[in-house]
Amino acid sequence: MDYKNNILETIGNTPLVKINKLAAEIPALVLAKYETFNPGNSVKDRMAVKMIEDAEKEGKIKPGGTIIEGTSGNTGMGLALAAIVKGYKMVCVIADKQSKEKIDILRAVGSEVVVCPTDVEPDDPRSYYSTSKRLAEETPNSWYVNQYDNPSNAKAHYESTGPEIWKQTEGKVTHFVVGVGTGGTISGVGKYLKEQNPNVKVWGIDTYGSVFKKYHETGIFDEKEIYPYVTEGIGEDILPKNVDFSIIDGFTKVTDKDAAVYTQKLAKEEGMFLGNSAGAAMKGLLQLKEHFTKDDVVVVLFHDHGSRYVGKMFNDDWMKAQGFLD
Ligand code: PMP
Repeated sequence: MDYKNNILETIGNTPLVKINKLAAEIPALVLAKYETFNPGNSVKDRMAVKMIEDAEKEGKIKPGGTIIEGTSGNTGMGLALAAIVKGYKMVCVIADKQSKEKIDILRAVGSEVVVCPTDVEPDDPRSYYSTSKRLAEETPNSWYVNQYDNPSNAKAHYESTGPEIWKQTEGKVTHFVVGVGTGGTISGVGKYLKEQNPNVKVWGIDTYGSVFKKYHETGIFDEKEIYPYVTEGIGEDILPKNVDFSIIDGFTKVTDKDAAVYTQKLAKEEGMFLGNSAGAAMKGLLQLKEHFTKDDVVVVLFHDHGSRYVGKMFNDDWMKAQGFLD
């Protein structure tokens, strides 16, 4: 019989899917690494399991313990699935700008969810960074995951996502394009691909209101770059240890409006019903088009599924209220 022993064994081995109409103006072959096929509907399942398994090996989490994480939803989902299979309690600390669907979904898979204000400084005691740390200190037998600085995050992508892309493209991949949040995906995949072929170019997608692009170009952490934005999943107001700037060739920034509009376009023109960071990545890829030639094989990674955004980027009233629809 052909079956998996539990849901975690279905993680990974996601397909590469050609982008057709939306990539028509790009001379290269453009392939989407389609991560919504993971059981938690996002790429984050990969690193969630890896972070827990490494913590188990290092004795940081013990049977019956509580996993605590500040998460925009997808990492929480991956951790929640793993917690169920492995017998841990899960607490997710989330910023209030995140979609209601993400919060409801986390509760559906048995996670406790603590909601914190978005527009406070990271070191403010009310921020979700500070709240997660405090809860971890106060809860006995708990482990604070810290996906931003936890090296197992990027390692998961170095060990699984990167090798899959290399194998699926038969080593022909020339460019990797991906949204950057904690940096785990870009750093792990980018490192693996560059080790196989140092000529592979790695591009990060950033958002207006985030520090990455300016920091990469100047080495300056410029607080003037930080302001609230709507795009979900990418951009930061901190420099996570998981962002390895040395393997990134460049960043391009995508506006909130473009990211939202291209999230809709992917669904309507490619049948790819995906999350907001996929729209940002698709638009960013088009902004980079002069870097690609006809012999190139460009892989863009799409992080998560559209169902989490039905009340936002897929709701025209919300889109109009944001000024995103003409
Ligand atoms: N897109 C979505 C929807 C995400 O949840 C995340 C993780 N914050 C990212 C992109 C960025 O991925 P990474 O954290 O690996 O940089």
